Amino acid sequence: MAKASGTKSGKKSDKKSGKKSGKKSSSRSSDKAGTTSDAPAPADDLTARRDAAVELLRARPGLRVADVDARAKPGFDGSRTDGERALAKIGEDLSDLQERLYANGRTGGDRSVLLVLQGLDTAGKGGIVRHVLGLVDPQGVALRSFGVPTPEERRHHYLWRVRRALPPAGRIGVFDRSHYEDVLVARVDELVPPDVWRARYDEINRFEARVAAAGTTIVKVLLWVSPDEQYARLHERLDRPEKHWKYDPSDVDARLRRPAYEAAYQDVLDRTSTDVAPWYVVPADRKWYARLAVSALLHRALSDLDLGWPAATYDVSAERARLEATR
Ligand code: AMP
Ligand code: MG
Repeated sequence: MAKASGTKSGKKSDKKSGKKSGKKSSSRSSDKAGTTSDAPAPADDLTARRDAAVELLRARPGLRVADVDARAKPGFDGSRTDGERALAKIGEDLSDLQERLYANGRTGGDRSVLLVLQGLDTAGKGGIVRHVLGLVDPQGVALRSFGVPTPEERRHHYLWRVRRALPPAGRIGVFDRSHYEDVLVARVDELVPPDVWRARYDEINRFEARVAAAGTTIVKVLLWVSPDEQYARLHERLDRPEKHWKYDPSDVDARLRRPAYEAAYQDVLDRTSTDVAPWYVVPADRKWYARLAVSALLHRALSDLDLGWPAATYDVSAERARLEATR
């Protein structure tokens, strides 16, 4: 899942991923149909490993969310240090890909990416924003956090605030929580009757299909933290004065309702993981792994857009000559 394009770091990342390097090139010609056997680029191999990790993370029918091992590292068998290095390398690529997206948006392109982050309290949503989105130009990111609806938001349909927060063309939108809270906390805390939240899954699917059709690649991530790790993180928030602001007494209430949240998340995965807006379940007890995994998902989404640099809308050599004439 390490860096997927650009060759300068290909070899290194091979080693860092902890996978057997060295054998890769020789086995390339046989392990992937349709590729030529001459001079396989290390980047192709990294792309293949990234894609394998992405497939492992994808929520498949039959996945039981309560059974997910939150300490697992699907698609990556390196150490924490390896993972942190791999993330930095991916960051170089992400930055380039994000700039292409931004440039295309500035020149009439209609593509954008939307990363939806969900997870129980302490799952690490904020850390993803800081450590993964922090790798790209903030100009290109449209971040929106969804909390308890304001009085104004409450006067509207639950998707109203979501529509207004969708990323404009050229941007990577990030939702820290999302419309899924309207089938999660709204269900668990009985904020609306069952027939109301039950009708929302299909509505959300239709909504997301329209968003995707308008040019937005949707990537939905469920960060999955274990009860023990959540306990440790909440404990730390209470122990350290600089973390008190992150603690909310309601976090303990939500923690006590974990079985209800697990059931609600299970339905979300079963009912709203679609081809145009798939869910990925990312084990999140190891923060470094979760960050690496999300960076791989984002990398895949951005590279699949296959964006080049916008062509100049002026005569480059004529402009060069004009500029020279000003010296
Ligand atoms: P945090 O993400 O920790 O800042 O907390 C935001 C809080 O807002 C969480 O407790 C969410 O459950 C809550 N929240 C988000 N969206 C909704 C919603 N649609 N209805 C009710 N509560 C919500
Ligand atoms: Mg919170």
